[in-house]
Amino acid sequence: MPKEKLFGKTLNELIAVTKRVGLPGFAAKQVADWLYKKEILSIDEMTNLSKKARDILSADYEIGLYPPENVSESKDGTKKYLYKVLNNKYIETAYIPDDDRATICVSSQSGCKMGCIFCMTGKQGFQGNLTSNEILNQFRSMPEFRKLTNMVYMGMGEPLDNITEVLKTLEILTGEWGYGWSPTRITVSTVGLVSRIKYFLEKSKCHLAVSLHSPFDEERRQLMPVQRTNTIGQVLDIIRNFDFNSQRRVSFEYILFKDMNDTPRHIKELAKILNGIKCRINIIRFHPIPGSQFHSPDEQATISFREALNKKGILTTIRASRGVDIQAACGLLSTLEQNKS
Ligand code: SF4
Repeated sequence: MPKEKLFGKTLNELIAVTKRVGLPGFAAKQVADWLYKKEILSIDEMTNLSKKARDILSADYEIGLYPPENVSESKDGTKKYLYKVLNNKYIETAYIPDDDRATICVSSQSGCKMGCIFCMTGKQGFQGNLTSNEILNQFRSMPEFRKLTNMVYMGMGEPLDNITEVLKTLEILTGEWGYGWSPTRITVSTVGLVSRIKYFLEKSKCHLAVSLHSPFDEERRQLMPVQRTNTIGQVLDIIRNFDFNSQRRVSFEYILFKDMNDTPRHIKELAKILNGIKCRINIIRFHPIPGSQFHSPDEQATISFREALNKKGILTTIRASRGVDIQAACGLLSTLEQNKS
């Protein structure tokens, strides 16, 4: 029988483990310390546990870290790693260095159920939820792990569709017994799952990013089938009524599609629906995927769109395109790898 993985367990789960194998309660904190602060690679290195305790633990458990299978490196320094999960499926993790910041973009699922029509991961269908071990292993086993300053859950999958495992990882990242990161270094993205957003906001202090892409219901429905059952109006109501502290940020992701969602009508409607919400819009350039009918507007049109929104009082930025020479669109690299195998 495969051994259970310790890495990715919360402190409460480690307490249950130590109880199960007959170790005293305080041993859980020691194990967490070895896993998340001292960064060991084997149970045998937990030298403040007795040899007998380590042997008992090793009988049923392992640390559970594993390296990426493959890496593609862009001219701009961005890297995309492929990790193997769920019996031969591949997920993507991006490393994005930028001056004094280094951001990791992690996947939370293999494939995705949401079916956004501009997304290669959506075309893969859904293969499974990642465990907290598989999500956090992307972070810990990335060769640049020690340089990382920020983390975004914007890779493959819809994080709030795997909320239990995602929340566990946030607990480990921000817990003082874990990595001790400030929640303001972490952003979790969502298409807007109405039944999960409030829960996420209550259970974590991390930033929230909502994929918006159109302020018009019908158009958004065409781009993102989730809009049929989870409208952006419902999402905005939840955000409007939640008490955000000054540290916490809400942003809206907006992929700009030429001659579709980049018109003055869109600017006017965006200003209308976001009225009263302290937020920012991140404009994202569309990275083409095979068979897609969409195109990205040119640089000047993108800048004009940003300026028009800024004039309307909505802080708007354009996200720099990174890794365009290494299949920047999320899901492309893993699809190619899966097709190979
Ligand atoms: S954009 Fe995100 S939520 Fe939509 S299909 Fe792709 S991975 Fe899923």
